[in-house]
Amino acid sequence: MQDKITILGIPFDNMTRKEFLKQLYLRMEHKEKTFLVTANPEIVMYARNHPSYYNLLMEADYIAPDGIGIVRAARKLDTPIKERVPGFELMMGLLEIANLNQKRVYFIGAHEEVVNQTVKNVGKKWPDIKIVGHRNGYFNHTDPEVINEVRAARPDIIFVAFGFPKQEQWIKTYLEKADHGIAVGVGGSFDVLSGNAKRAPYLVQRFHVEWLYRLLKQPSRYKRMLALPLFIKEIYKQKKKEKAK
Ligand code: UDP
Repeated sequence: MQDKITILGIPFDNMTRKEFLKQLYLRMEHKEKTFLVTANPEIVMYARNHPSYYNLLMEADYIAPDGIGIVRAARKLDTPIKERVPGFELMMGLLEIANLNQKRVYFIGAHEEVVNQTVKNVGKKWPDIKIVGHRNGYFNHTDPEVINEVRAARPDIIFVAFGFPKQEQWIKTYLEKADHGIAVGVGGSFDVLSGNAKRAPYLVQRFHVEWLYRLLKQPSRYKRMLALPLFIKEIYKQKKKEKAK
């Protein structure tokens, strides 16, 4: 099995959720700075059209295959990926590890009431986590004061929920200044953890139609969701190119 599977220019780490968590735990123990990205087809397409975001992703220590779209694309290109590693599940795993090892965690992002509720819920479910700070995601993301404040809290894990590309841009600047910590962009996860938004029901997840579920719940997202058919089209193009070689 290959260590990295490149899909439309994005090198995904070919690891199971368990393997990701093991590596992340080791890096946490060694106090190694870690930039973790969980990339879905939307992110891959965005990086394709935005070179500066692409370059940012190239600086990540790990890129996890977030979503069935990536797994299917890998299979189609005859470079199968072990399993899908949803960002939300990686976050749950990291919280579990943090709880077992009394790690320091910082939550930054989402609206004030959402992040407050997230912190409350996390504290109840994982009482041994040291929640060393939280802040909403509506501030000037280039403000160095915020970086100093988060850094001063010395978190082992920082969950950043601004949605892409903002969260990855902030993480890069943060990690340049920090001396340790695992930083990961978690999109709308605080909305789910706080109970403000529900994850798709089990059957929807089981049949991999989360995209349809989201579209029906939030029709305003349709523009962003056009990335998925475009992604599939690009994968077919790529496949054709390889066949012609
Ligand atoms: N968000 C934020 N700051 C911003 C923009 C968004 O904290 O400047 C939060 C937003 O409240 C939500 C999360 O980022 O909790 C994800 O937003 P969105 O649904 O737009 O992104 P996606 O999940 O689609 O990547």
